[in-house]
Amino acid sequence: MKTTRTTCPYCGVGCGVLATPQPDGSVTIAGDPDHPANFGRLCSKGSALGETLSLDGRLLHPEIADKRVTWDEALGHIAGRFTRIIAEHGPDAVAIYGSGQLLTEDYYLANKLMKGFVGTANIDTNSRLCMASSVAGHKRAFGSDTVPGNYEDLEQADLIVLVGSNLGWCHPVLYQRIAAARAQRPEMKIVLIDPRRTVTNEIADLHLPIGPDGDSALFVGLLAHLAQTGATDPAYIAAHTSGFDAALLAAEDWDIARVAAATGLAPLAISHFYDLFARTEKVVTVYSQGVNQSAAGSDKVNAIINCHLASGRIGRPGMGPFSVTGQPNAMGGREVGGLANMLAAHMDFTPEAIDRVSRFWDAPNIARKPGLKAVDLFAAMARGEIKAVWIMATNPVDSMPDADAVRAALAACPLVVVSDMNRHTDTMDLAHIRLPAAGWGEKDGTVTNSERRISRQRPFLPLPGEARPDWWIIKEVARRMGHAKAFDYETPSEIFAEHVALSAFDNDGSRDFDLSGLIDADYDTLAPVQWPIRTRPAARMFGDGRFFTPDRKARFVAIQPPPPFAPAPGGFILNTGRVRDHWHTMTRTGKAARLSAHMAEPFVEIHPDDAARLGIRRASLVRLSSRHGTALVRALVTDRQQRGQLFAPMHWTDQFASNGRIDALVPGKTDPVSGQPALKMAQVHAEPA
Ligand code: SF4
Repeated sequence: MKTTRTTCPYCGVGCGVLATPQPDGSVTIAGDPDHPANFGRLCSKGSALGETLSLDGRLLHPEIADKRVTWDEALGHIAGRFTRIIAEHGPDAVAIYGSGQLLTEDYYLANKLMKGFVGTANIDTNSRLCMASSVAGHKRAFGSDTVPGNYEDLEQADLIVLVGSNLGWCHPVLYQRIAAARAQRPEMKIVLIDPRRTVTNEIADLHLPIGPDGDSALFVGLLAHLAQTGATDPAYIAAHTSGFDAALLAAEDWDIARVAAATGLAPLAISHFYDLFARTEKVVTVYSQGVNQSAAGSDKVNAIINCHLASGRIGRPGMGPFSVTGQPNAMGGREVGGLANMLAAHMDFTPEAIDRVSRFWDAPNIARKPGLKAVDLFAAMARGEIKAVWIMATNPVDSMPDADAVRAALAACPLVVVSDMNRHTDTMDLAHIRLPAAGWGEKDGTVTNSERRISRQRPFLPLPGEARPDWWIIKEVARRMGHAKAFDYETPSEIFAEHVALSAFDNDGSRDFDLSGLIDADYDTLAPVQWPIRTRPAARMFGDGRFFTPDRKARFVAIQPPPPFAPAPGGFILNTGRVRDHWHTMTRTGKAARLSAHMAEPFVEIHPDDAARLGIRRASLVRLSSRHGTALVRALVTDRQQRGQLFAPMHWTDQFASNGRIDALVPGKTDPVSGQPALKMAQVHAEPA
């Protein structure tokens, strides 16, 4: 029995997996002991991958208007309709909405088709919901979307600050690595900054139950504290940064009393955290969706980065700001430019980059300006401006904020194409054209994890029915739209080679994303490797104090913390997120009985005092409502939750529970810099059902 070395398709930890098909049709799954992300570890989701591979519910043939058709008919129909709509209404009347589940090769082709050949940047992705604020924060501070550190830094740090991150459930193998390091070095300190007392609190020395959107105030106050206590690094600031004085001026008035008022934290706890940070050299600040999914997400990111720049704690072992991505290939999507505001290979829409990419692709119709970000894209669809959309490997009817409005926009859109594995998802049910896409175990390509490490996903199962890889589907549509020469690929390795070449094209070292060291690499045997790779891989960035801004200095950003977010009168603030054993809208994890057993139903965490006040009994049904929608969920009464706040998971869909779609309650409010929606901040009411 042959064992295949591949990568887990769930979170951004990017664990290596060994998959061994058995004679009875089952697949044995084990952690890859040689993969540098996990060294053999797997979490509950990764371990159960073999239980999610059945063909039950799979879409196995292309369909148009609910009828089975040939691939040729489906591809010809899409190419013809897209071409006519572009001719009639212009390129901005069409869009692609992709996913961090796509492999880099799929993403690269979708981006090339839209931005180089259709002539629109209307290609965005569910990664907009995940880490767009980190991208914006990185670019403002570093001049590039670069994650400075790596997982080893978490083991080498003396202080780990976890902000808005339930690592124990959402990045479990990183949590395991930290717990193991801490067992070996008990002097390591861990601070958890989270409104909820989550499972991650079990390894925390200090939990700061911060008020909603209080993070900017906390880190602005920390910057002021570092300056006042002499814990900044003036030599580093002078040599390698700019904008410190303005950032400090904005922070000056944020003493501990003001921070306490803005965050709801006890002054003593704030002092304790500030003192720990100030006196510990090796600090890593890990942040995730609690930071990113906010109307002030980019400012939160920069408030964190400011503290690391001010103390010179970046680019060295055991220190640095560290954004951990939610999805398996959110990073790969960023690398190819699979966001509406990026062009390709980490390049923006500058005149030089447009010229460079246009020459490289020999593109007849290069996009010259950013396109619509996810929330704006579906709003434009609702207004009738987007007349054709192709959705790949994602389920926006459930995962987008204001999800009922997204459903209505798709229902009214003249052409909805969906490529996915499953015949029924809440989004697939609205498709005019359904395309059967290959899934994990069948696909062949690469993904990049949170520490910039590129790993191979390799197939070990045959393609079922007429399912095809996404890259194949995209190139066949592109060829039928008249771009046969530019989309003449036979294998994903050819696409990867072009992606590598573009990263190196006209790159004198002034661009961070550079894979030139992989130009002659063997794709089939490619071992996990961190970029940039000019000659040899760089495990850590910015060690030389040089950034990717024009003057090679990092930028401080002056941050004005927002006023505290308040609930609606008589209502609650709803925080949404994940549970341990489900992934996104459960299209894969919902197939594994033991994963579904962990949390069987959609639920809401509510504080006992709030439950008693409203007459909500333990395990009774609760109706949640907002201006945007309603949901019916089970009450989980717990003092892990603060009074006046609720938590509900985002996973359940109409396929799994009637009226359990939590993102229907959340408004489409976004961060003005990143366009990332504030998925953790909805004003809702709760009542017994
Ligand atoms: Fe997969 Fe993430 Fe679990 Fe690793 S930690 S096995 S990548 S879900």
